[in-house]
Formats: sequence, C-alpha cells, structure tokens
Amino acid sequence: LGAAARLYTDEDPLVILSSSTLKPTVSNSSSAWLIQFYSSWCGHCIQYSSTWKTLAQDVKDWQQAIGVAVLDCAQEENFDVCKEYSIKFYPTFKYFRAHSSPTDVGTTYRGADRQVQAVRQLMVNILQNHTRLDWPNHCPPLDPLSSEKLLPLLGQRSDVFTAIVVEEPDSYVGREVILDLLQYSGVQVKRALSTDLLYCERTHTQFCCYLMSLLVIRQKGKRLLSGQVEALPHKQSPEIWREFDRSKVYTADLESALHYLLRVELATHSTLEGEELKVFKDFVTLVSKLYPGGGSVVKLMETLSDWLLSLPLQRIPYQAVLDLVNNKMRISGVHLGAELRWVGCQGSKVGLRGYPCSLWTLFHVLTVQHDAMPTALENTGLEGETAPVLQVMRRYIRTFFGCEQCGRHFEQAAAASMDRVLDREQQVLWLWNQHNMVNYRLAGSLSDDPLFPKAPWPSPSLCASCHEEKSGVHVWNQDNVLRFLRHHYGASNLSPTYSL
Ligand code: FAD
Repeated sequence: LGAAARLYTDEDPLVILSSSTLKPTVSNSSSAWLIQFYSSWCGHCIQYSSTWKTLAQDVKDWQQAIGVAVLDCAQEENFDVCKEYSIKFYPTFKYFRAHSSPTDVGTTYRGADRQVQAVRQLMVNILQNHTRLDWPNHCPPLDPLSSEKLLPLLGQRSDVFTAIVVEEPDSYVGREVILDLLQYSGVQVKRALSTDLLYCERTHTQFCCYLMSLLVIRQKGKRLLSGQVEALPHKQSPEIWREFDRSKVYTADLESALHYLLRVELATHSTLEGEELKVFKDFVTLVSKLYPGGGSVVKLMETLSDWLLSLPLQRIPYQAVLDLVNNKMRISGVHLGAELRWVGCQGSKVGLRGYPCSLWTLFHVLTVQHDAMPTALENTGLEGETAPVLQVMRRYIRTFFGCEQCGRHFEQAAAASMDRVLDREQQVLWLWNQHNMVNYRLAGSLSDDPLFPKAPWPSPSLCASCHEEKSGVHVWNQDNVLRFLRHHYGASNLSPTYSL
C-alpha cells in the first residue's frame, strides 16, 4: 500500500513541475506556458484531471509555442512555491508569456469554462496577446492575411504547400490548424477572413487530417528549446503505512489538519483583513475552546487567539501568524507537529484522503465537544450563535478552503438548511447528515479511495444499532447515531498513537 500514481504521470503529454523547476521553466522561456496548479486531495481536481490530460494530448504539437504543465500544491515540497505564486484555490490556471521575467508570477485565468475547447481557445488568445517584441520564438504568425498579401501566394512556386484556411473573424479553426501543424514541415498554414473569399466551414481536425493525408509531412525534430526544462522524473516519496483502528479518531490527523490549515492553506493569503481576519479569529477561538484534551495544540491556539484579540490592527500580515506558530511556540515549548502525518486519514494512494478527511474529522470533533461542554464558548462572542461550530465551519470553508467547488456545494447545503439547527445535538447531527450527503454524491467518483469507499456512515460494523429497517426500507436510528457520534468523536476515543 505504498505510494501509487499521482494524478499525472510522466506518461501524460505534459510537464510535471515542482518547486525547483517552475521558475527555470517559465522565466525567460522561448514559449508561453499554461499551468494548472492543483491539489491532489481536491476531489474536483481529481475529476478534472481527465479533461486536462485530453487537452494536453490535443495540444501536444503546440508545445514549441505554448506548453502545458501541472504543479501539485498538496506536495509538501511545493507548499512554498504555491504560496509565492498566490495559489488560493484549486485548480488555479495561470499562464506565463514567453520571455517573461523571473519576478513574473503569471496571470490567472478566471473563466468559468474549463472544457477542452475553451482552454484551447484561451491558449490561442494567450499567444496572440504577445507583442512583436516578446513573440514566442517558434510560434508562426496567427493574424489573418489581408487579400493583398494572400493573392501573391496563389500560384507561387515553393518547396512547401501553403494551405489557406478561410474563415469568419471569430473562428479559431485557422489558428488552431496553424498550431496543430507546428511540428510538421512540408506545409505552411495561413488564414484569411471570409470577408475576402468564399469558403466552406470545417473543424480544425478535419483540416489537419486532410492536410496530413495530402502530404507525407515530416514531423520536425523534437528538440527542447532554450529556457525549457525537461520534466523531472516525478519523485514519489514512499509513504509508510500506519496501522490503525477505524473505530478510533487519531490526534495525529487533527494536528495534521491544523498544520496544513495554518501553514499551507492560510499561508497563501499574504495578509488577513476585514472578513478574512474575522473568520480566522473565530476559527482560532473555536479551536482553542473546544479542541479536546488540553495539551500543546490548545496552548498554541490559546496563545494565537490572545495575540489576535490583543492586536489593535485591522490588517495582519500572515507572516506574523506563521512566525508565531513556527518560532515563538518552539521557544516556549508549545508547538504543532511540523509535518503531515495521516493515520485514520491516510489514503491507499498518494493524493487520496488526507487534508479534507482531517478537516471533516476536526469539525465533527468540535461539534461533539461543544455538545459535551455547553458553556465552553461563553464570552467569546460566538455564544450568541445557535450553531456556532457550523457557522464558523461554514465561514471557514467559504473563505479559505482550497477546493472551491466543495466550498460552493457546502454553502448551498448550509443556505438550504443550517438555519433549522436549533441546538447542540442538532448541530452534531446536521454535520453528520451533510457529510453523508457528500458521501452519497461522491461514491464511485475518482476521489473515492477503493480502500475507504464512500458509503453511508457509520457502517453497521461500527454501529449496528444506528441502522434499522422500517417496511423493508433502511432508516437511521437518530438517537443511536447521536450516541455513537458522541462516543466516536468524544475526547475519550481520541488516540495519541503517531502523535508527536
Ligand atoms: P471523508 O468523507 O473525508 O471522511 C473522513 C472520515 O470521516 C471517514 O473516514 C469516516 O471515518 C468519517 N465519516 C464519514 N462519513 C461521516 C459522516 N457522515 N459523519 C461523520 N463522520 C463521517 N469533495 C468533492 O469531490 N466534492 C465536494 O463537493 C466536496 N465537498 C466537501 C466539503 C467539505 C466541507 C469537505 C471538508 C470536503 C469536501 N470534499 C468534497 C472532500 C470529500 O468529502 C472527502 O473529504 C475526500 O474525498 C476524502 O474522502 P475520505 O474517504 O477521506 O472520507
């Protein structure tokens, strides 16, 4: 059960970047670059990977003009570089112009359409946005020829064929065909607008197939261009499998959740102000009051909470928070594990489970703790809310959770029913039920770990009395579910095994 394949492998026709190769690849490159920054734990990124692979296959012949790459922000070695490039949500698409400077952090594509055709057209636009001064070295001209330039080409003797794609001004076919044939010699493709000539409409694939069948087109040598770095073999650190008991909750998972959240997820925000700062303060207060068992995590969160509340600032540089977490805590002997150590949240493959699993676990634990300690949030400013744990979770997910799609789904569910939660017991049950809704939706999806298939939870083996049958139909016994959740996520069921 060691590390298996990540979302992308060397067999895919794209470049897998890492912290050490990103900058050397994109800065001062003779070609432009389109990079998908993803997170291998993000379910949406997992689903989307097949589209990105199809795209990469489709435009692999364009690479001398514009390359396609990926970088996994969930890999520990890439945490800093994703922060430097301000990657807050996954997937984020950034493009870099050819000949860009080393300080260029790229431009983010914000379009909602991420299907292959839309991204192909985005790539054409990226290329056309270059000027004559920074035009990618090997990218042919993409502008249409005027009729004055076009007519002399007809009947001209040449060693190569010239194909002219005549099309409407908003068509991408001509430009796509020009790029599709970039790697081939023996034919040059030009485009002209239909306002000049009669034409018949074809797709870019029909054009390419036709042109290639006409000619014995030689594929040009595939030499790496200056400034390009060959994709390094994708290193996968072998993970050690940690034996664990599914009926327990592991503090190592909760600590790893906080480690990832504080040092990676939030660290992509260079400053916290306004709503973000408030959400962060509330989250820290909540954890400091409800994290079970005292210990160094609670001390750290209390110190952080006191510090945040004592600051008169409306705007906090996130580096100050990191300094506090990393250094001051170490001096006073209060610290949070400095590495990710998944136990109940480990996946059978690298990239499955991990952080989102631990975030669910953390919030389940917090709802159960709040139920067990009704007065814990007094004088925190959170006591006035009916379901404070859910409300803080909702705001956290909406503001900071890297999987944007997950955040949207969660927000929809919260808007539909969270206001019906009237007490602490219902708070525990609402989160359980909502989590099961997500499990139903994701069962059988690519982010489903075969070793931990998504299914209604708890299974009969964990809690037989939670399941009942009425008139031949399965129903939950909610009283027993509540009892089970109180036990499962309660302080006495937390295992410190594998914790620091
Ligand atoms: P998880 O679902 O993460 O569960 C972790 C652990 O919690 C399980 O191992 C089990 O011990 C326990 N558990 C399972 N079900 C319940 C329950 N009903 N009540 C209490 N405990 C339970 N991914 C997407 O692809 N699309 C989404 O829209 C999406 N939305 C998300 C929203 C939120 C708020 C979060 C935190 C994550 C979301 N994810 C989404 C990620 C997804 O839900 C899983 O967390 C991820 O796929 C990892 O799955 P897992 O197998 O580790 O189990």
